[in-house]
Amino acid sequence: MRLGIISALAEEQHGLIEALQSPYKHIHGMREYTTGKLWEIDAVCVLSRIGKVAAAMTAAILVEKFGVTHIVFTGVAGSGDKTVNVGDIVVAEALVQHDFDASPLFPKFEIPLTGLSYFATDVALTERLAIAAAKTARVHRGLIASGDQFIGKLAQIQAIKAGLPELLAVEMEGAAVAQVCFELGIPFAVIRTISDNANDDAAVDFMHFIKTVASRYAFEVIHNFCKQ
Ligand code: SAH
Repeated sequence: MRLGIISALAEEQHGLIEALQSPYKHIHGMREYTTGKLWEIDAVCVLSRIGKVAAAMTAAILVEKFGVTHIVFTGVAGSGDKTVNVGDIVVAEALVQHDFDASPLFPKFEIPLTGLSYFATDVALTERLAIAAAKTARVHRGLIASGDQFIGKLAQIQAIKAGLPELLAVEMEGAAVAQVCFELGIPFAVIRTISDNANDDAAVDFMHFIKTVASRYAFEVIHNFCKQ
């Protein structure tokens, strides 16, 4: 296994880079890819940058230029369900682009030429990640939706939830990585710590959360994942 670890935020990646043995930095396409050994696993760590296009590019480069065979994405997200609280972890079983709509040519959410709206994560990687995450926080498993908006208004999250009732979390990158990995045949998994409720308080909660907990959570989960 050569594992690509994509982090959404610098705060989440920092500890991993410090833990890498024989780290080697490569700059490419406005990103810094750091290769090395992470607790015996051959790994490549990179920041995705924000949004679906940025994340898709990062995932594709990890596979095509750095030869990763598996991808794990760690980040924070807004809650998409009242059972999912700030500080909980959501491990994706499937991802959807909530802002994708080519109707009436294709059903809403369907990605043309794939025939899919929901991209399933790899079962084995997801299981391993969920076991690792359960050591750190309460874990939910299910649907994560991605789109190119920070959801910070109650009306926005309510509208997304109305179209996707099984939604657990909302963020800006996961479904893009999912589509790239599906098209390239790369097993992948996505884990998100809930930083806010995607409502009118989201922006303030988000900033507070990433400074206080997000980095520690991401580090612990990846540590436990690699050690399994
Ligand atoms: N001002 C921040 C912007 C981050 S955007 C900065 O400068 O870094 C929010 C990031 O966290 C995205 O990567 C997204 O995937 C995730 N996220 C957290 N809460 C979210 C929400 N409520 N809506 C959408 N994305 C959210």
